[in-house]
Amino acid sequence: MSYPDETSADELQAIREQRLDVDLEMAAMTAVGDRIAELRRAGICTHGSTQGHRADPDLRPGQLRCTDTCKRVFASDEEWHAAMDAALDM
Ligand SMILES: [Zn+2]
Repeated sequence: MSYPDETSADELQAIREQRLDVDLEMAAMTAVGDRIAELRRAGICTHGSTQGHRADPDLRPGQLRCTDTCKRVFASDEEWHAAMDAALDM
């Protein structure tokens, strides 16, 4: 998108900055994927998926069980998210 007071150089600059943003975002996502794969190879669960009490009668409402590899029970979404962050060390 351009405005009457912009030059084509401004537009090119904006396009380059958008491409750089996308490149940085892709690099960050690739780094997370690589880290998950590395931890998985080392036998460390990153708690990538869980299920709640409706799918698991042993859980109370609000609790979640890791369905990735460790089967750990989390008391809340917050506890699960913190465990994922801790596993990824990010
Ligand atoms: Zn887990």
